Amino acid sequence: MPNAQCPMPNLKSKIIMSWGKLLQPDLVLGNSVVNLTPDILQKYHIKGLVLDVDETLVPITAANASPELSLWVKEIKPLVSVWLASNNLSQNRIGRIAASLNLPYIIGAAKPSRRKLRRAIDAMDLPVEQVAMVGDRLFTDVLAGNRLGMFTILVEPMINVGDAVRKYPVRSFEVWVSQALGATLKIKD
Ligand SMILES: [Mg+2]
Repeated sequence: MPNAQCPMPNLKSKIIMSWGKLLQPDLVLGNSVVNLTPDILQKYHIKGLVLDVDETLVPITAANASPELSLWVKEIKPLVSVWLASNNLSQNRIGRIAASLNLPYIIGAAKPSRRKLRRAIDAMDLPVEQVAMVGDRLFTDVLAGNRLGMFTILVEPMINVGDAVRKYPVRSFEVWVSQALGATLKIKD
């Protein structure tokens, strides 16, 4: 009798590999979103940005966009289409931040779900690979972006000046899991 091989170990490693790929950002910035320069956008042929809000643009402890962030938005807005997409359900918080930056936005985006993010991509009318999903989380922002075939950028969480150094246990856990699944999170520029 031929030695029938169990397909399971193979299948298991394939599943692990594909999860690793889905959690793999195309670019790891290594610092906050304001370091995403026009040069970097140009280098990767990015024409649109879908930006996460909480901890990516505005610390969760802050209610408003910082002057530094507003300046960055002003600098990149002539170069790329920009939308905000937050899982936060607060119309009050996200709507106010979006209004202050004069940007269209989606609340309750339910990332890693693709459904609501598609609205932003459709509105930009760009090839999906030229639209970058930018966020501080692997299991929501990066996963959603990769599922859609977007360019994905992982940033460091935005820290509020004057705040004590915060710990991000959920984020650290996600980094650990994604690396265990084969994602590499080397900082590039
Ligand atoms: Mg976030």
